[in-house]
Amino acid sequence: MILEEGRVIATAEIGQLGTVLRVAAPGVAGQARAGQFVHVRPGPSFDPLLRRPYSFNRIDRAAGEIELIVKALGAGGDWIAARREGDQLDLLGPLGSSFVIQRSTRNLLLVAGGTGVAPMRVLAEQESGRRNVTLLMGGRSVAHLWPSDRLPATVEYVTTTEDGSFGIEGRFWSGPIRCARAARGRCSPRSGASAMTRSARRGPMRGEPRYSTLKSR
Ligand SMILES: Cc1cc2nc3c(=O)[nH]c(=O)nc-3n(C[C@H](O)[C@H](O)[C@H](O)COP(=O)(O)OP(=O)(O)OC[C@H]3O[C@@H](n4cnc5c(N)ncnc54)[C@H](O)[C@@H]3O)c2cc1C
Repeated sequence: MILEEGRVIATAEIGQLGTVLRVAAPGVAGQARAGQFVHVRPGPSFDPLLRRPYSFNRIDRAAGEIELIVKALGAGGDWIAARREGDQLDLLGPLGSSFVIQRSTRNLLLVAGGTGVAPMRVLAEQESGRRNVTLLMGGRSVAHLWPSDRLPATVEYVTTTEDGSFGIEGRFWSGPIRCARAARGRCSPRSGASAMTRSARRGPMRGEPRYSTLKSR
């Protein structure tokens, strides 16, 4: 874990999902793993005081860059999401546990809702050349989905929207429960996780390695 002054290289708005910040931070990028996060200082003063955690959305070790997707909920997120090219970003990380994918795994099912797609995108980029990767993503509407052109072409991308504006209509865990027969890995918020846990205990996923990440407070 290191403290590093990153430099914002580019930003992009992803519908209503959040703001993607591409940040030059060779030290953090060199140590970062899929599933981990950085603590970002939300401004130059003491208000807001606490760092805000954001998962890696992309890790480019060779270029020394990371990407974060920031959905602003309050003052800290607002400040971070408003950074623009050339701005400095105070980073502390990488923090947290990373995913461990077994060598023998052939099929990887990644499940995410909202900004929970961040670590799944890192995993999809890392693993799509090695095994079959399916990403199931859910959002309130099409504007809350991760764009398919920001995923490797070999990733099978299945989407759900609550309003039915794109993909399967429903909550994002309704897809995985149906698809659990092909599954080995996953990620979801609490209710989705427990629904999938019940499904996986009964079905052919029983005994298979699974990971769940949960952002909550
Ligand atoms: C390990 C980890 C990784 C994360 N990765 C990402 C990421 O990749 N992208 C991203 O956009 N967010 C991510 N988050 C959530 C993000 O850290 C919070 O949304 C952020 O700290 C909120 O700061 P703020 O200043 O925008 O809002 P605050 O001013 O801190 O909060 C504003 C309001 O939103 C509520 N709130 C804050 N955080 C959450 C939350 N997580 N869930 C529900 N309500 C909340 C508060 O209770 C308050 O009412 C992650 C959180 C964790 C723990």
